[in-house]
This record gives sequence, structure tokens and C-alpha cells, in this order.
Amino acid sequence: MSTNDRGTVKVENGRYRFEGKFHYGYPNDPIRNEDGELMGVTNPRDLTHVHMYGGEAPFFEGLGQGKLLGTRCDNSNCEANGSIFIPFRIHCPDCLSKNTIVDMTETAQKGATVHTFMITERTGAFNTLPKPIRFVNVEFEGVPTILMGYLSVGEPKIGMKVIPIFNTTNPTFTILDLSWVPEETNETELPEGYTFG
Ligand SMILES: [Zn+2]
Repeated sequence: MSTNDRGTVKVENGRYRFEGKFHYGYPNDPIRNEDGELMGVTNPRDLTHVHMYGGEAPFFEGLGQGKLLGTRCDNSNCEANGSIFIPFRIHCPDCLSKNTIVDMTETAQKGATVHTFMITERTGAFNTLPKPIRFVNVEFEGVPTILMGYLSVGEPKIGMKVIPIFNTTNPTFTILDLSWVPEETNETELPEGYTFG
């Protein structure tokens, strides 16, 4: 079956324009027991999931440009005034006002800290990262929140200094475009397509 007409989406005048096909079904197979009796069928099908980023779009666009964006509450009547949030939060969780976007690339490049980590061999469906995945929880100077990421070089340790790397060559516009490496890492050790920013 041809999937040449795979669906695409664009936005024109603030409206979503869907073109092409978003669902494909494929021929099924019977499921039988050892006596050859019919038990059921497999139902192969694929669908294109449309994932809108809304107010988080600048964050994902920034990764491909080698930028790590966070946000800050600038409401002077809010107790959290001046707090910087990474991961990127569109609204302040305390006062619900819209946050200001701040570029945290330089702060991260000075060295963020591994708060804790987790290494996993078992992943969810559609995983594309090499296994085992070294997940790191990254802490930034002056930031009250912690960012989940993955380490691309070396082994994680609690308290180690890490710096961000970005898939600037062929960005996927997903969180996978951001990864972390120990601060002394050379450019030649980075995964293909990734740069320091
Ligand atoms: Zn606030």
C-alpha cells in the first residue's frame, strides 16, 4: 500500500489546513491456536499523530538553533517574581500570568549539575535513542526547577558538571534535539549532527 499521500499540516490565517491521508490500514492476518482454530486477527494500521506545541513552540524552535530557552515570571505582585523556569513554562504556576521568555544557553554552557540520573535498557514504543539511555536530571544555577534530559557521552554521576549539545544540523523539532555531555567533552566526541550551539 502506498503512503505517498501521507498527511501534512500547515497553518494559514490562524487555521489548520490538513492535506493528504492520516490513517492507513494494512491487510490483516488470522491468529490461530495449535489446532488451527481461529482465535482472532491482527489489525495492522498506522496513523499520523498531530502534535501542536502552542506557546511552547519557541522552545522547540530554539533547540535546532542551539538555544536553550526558559521563562521567567515578571509579575511584580507575584511571590515567584523573577523565578526562572526550565522546563519552559508558558505561565507562572503561582500567579498564572504569562511568563517572559529568557535565553538560558549561556547559563547552561557555564556548567549545569546532574542532580540525579537513571539508566534504562527498557524503553517505550518508537524509542530512537541508543540503549542504554542515560537520563539525567539537570539543575541550573539560580533555577528552582529541574530539567530531564539524556547524556550522550560518558557515564552520569551525581554532582557532575554537564553542558548542553544541540541537534543543529538536522533538527527534529522535538526534545531529542537537546542532549548533555560532561563539560570537558571535545566537539569530535559528539553524536553526529550535534554541536555545542
Ligand atoms: Zn508569578
